[in-house]
This record gives sequence, structure tokens and C-alpha cells, in this order.
Amino acid sequence: WLSDRAVGAERTEQGFRVHFEAGEAREASRIILATGVVDRLPDILGLAERWGSRVFHCPYCHGYELERGRIGIVATSAMAMHLALLLPDWGETTLFLNGAFEPDAEQLAKLAGRGVALEREAVARLEGELELVLGSGRRVRLDGLFVSTRVEVADPLADLLGCAFSEGEFGRIIHTDAMKATSVPGVYACGDAARMGGSVSLAVGDGTLAGAAAHQSLIFGLPGA
Ligand SMILES: Cc1cc2nc3c(=O)[nH]c(=O)nc-3n(C[C@H](O)[C@H](O)[C@H](O)COP(=O)(O)OP(=O)(O)OC[C@H]3O[C@@H](n4cnc5c(N)ncnc54)[C@H](O)[C@@H]3O)c2cc1C
Repeated sequence: WLSDRAVGAERTEQGFRVHFEAGEAREASRIILATGVVDRLPDILGLAERWGSRVFHCPYCHGYELERGRIGIVATSAMAMHLALLLPDWGETTLFLNGAFEPDAEQLAKLAGRGVALEREAVARLEGELELVLGSGRRVRLDGLFVSTRVEVADPLADLLGCAFSEGEFGRIIHTDAMKATSVPGVYACGDAARMGGSVSLAVGDGTLAGAAAHQSLIFGLPGA
């Protein structure tokens, strides 16, 4: 066990060398990257402080906590349509367009079909437990607010090792095969860093696969080697 931040990694003749913040380095024949992601939040005053308590991105994690409550979505792009069409099953839903996009006729019909209210006034800030203050000073009280974030792998280790990435609508994650092997032989990746739209249970499952694959490669060799 080593409680430190890995700040660098490189390939060596025997495998890999990982460098740590306090100055230590360790040799490894396999690496499992489980570093998670960083969510890039919209730049709205008071939003970051409420991330995880009143502001969320996953209806399946937090929708039930707001059951039948007042739910808002602040759009950061047209991808907000996705959340807006899912969330009415957990409560009265308002989509705050916040200048991010303007729904076309087909999108408007879909929103109306799901009973989603539209708000075009810009969101100036969040206050109190969860009150949206709009540009005119009008206040809208909500129980929960959702945003679509862009994710970035939390650190540059996968880049330094030369791992391939997958580009998705919500960001860039490490590309892996079904057993969580990356494009670099001997390097595995699991959890949010290697799966779009993750959860604790999926991250744990991925970790199991990556651990088993890394161990088996030590016994039976790396595929193709
Ligand atoms: C607001 C919010 C609410 C959520 N709610 C739920 C929920 O209710 N239920 C649910 O199942 N999921 C929820 N999730 C998703 C869940 O948190 C993630 O899917 C899960 O934590 C991913 O686990 P992970 O191990 O891949 O990454 P993480 O949990 O992010 O862990 C990665 C760890 O690696 C460490 N690390 C990163 N870089 C380095 C480095 N270079 N050296 C050393 N250590 C490093 C980090 O410090 C961190 O401790 C939520 C996510 C968010 C953002």
C-alpha cells in the first residue's frame, strides 16, 4: 500500500515505472488505472457548492430522492433534451434553456408530450437550499437541479502511457475492451475513467474484471505476446 498521488508513469524494459508526488517511484509489471473523472460544471454562481447535495447529473442515482418533487434542468447544450425527457417520471420538470440552445419544433413536441415546462430567462445564480435566481430577479424554488456535465479523466497517467481514448458526447474516457484492457499491453482501466455514465456498482464490477484480467495475464501471458 502506498498512500500518495501518482504523478507520472512510463514503460520500462520489465514493465512500468510509476512516480509519486512525494518523490518515490515503484516498478510494476501491470497497471490498473482507477482514477475516476472530473466533472466540468456550468459556470453558474452557487452551482458547484451544491454539486452532489442538490445538483446532480444522474436521474437513476438521485431521481428517487426527489420523488414527486420540483425538478429543474439547466441546459448546457442540446444534450439537455435527454435529461428533460427522462426526469418527468420523478417529478414536475422545468427545463431552463439558459441560452444554451433553442428546441426545434420536433423537440418542443417531445417536451410537451412529457409535460416539461420551458423557461427561457437566464439563470443568474443559485441561493439557499435550492432557489434559482433568474436574470430579472424572479426566484424559482426547486427540490433538485440536474445538469449534463462534460467529464475528463482525472489525471494524465493514461495519456503518458499512450492509452487510446474514446470520444463521447459527454467527454473523453480511456478506451478498453470487454476485460478492461487498454490499447497498451499490461495497462487496464476501470470505473468512471473507462466507462461513460458510471455508478458505484458498475465501477466495482469493472474493477473486478480489470483485476482478474491483470492477474490472468501474469499467469497466462498478455494476449498476442
Ligand atoms: C454528484 C455525483 C453524485 C453521484 N451519485 C451516485 C449515486 O448516488 N450512486 C452511484 O452509484 N453513483 C453515483 N455517482 C457516480 C459514482 O460516484 C462514480 O461512478 C464512482 O465513484 C466511480 O468510481 P471510480 O472508483 O471509478 O472513481 P472515483 O470514485 O472518482 O475514485 C477515483 C479515486 O482515484 C483517486 N485518484 C485520481 N487520480 C489519482 C492519482 N493520480 N493518484 C492516486 N489517486 C488518484 C481519486 O482521488 C479518487 O479517490 C455520483 C457521481 C457524482 C459526481
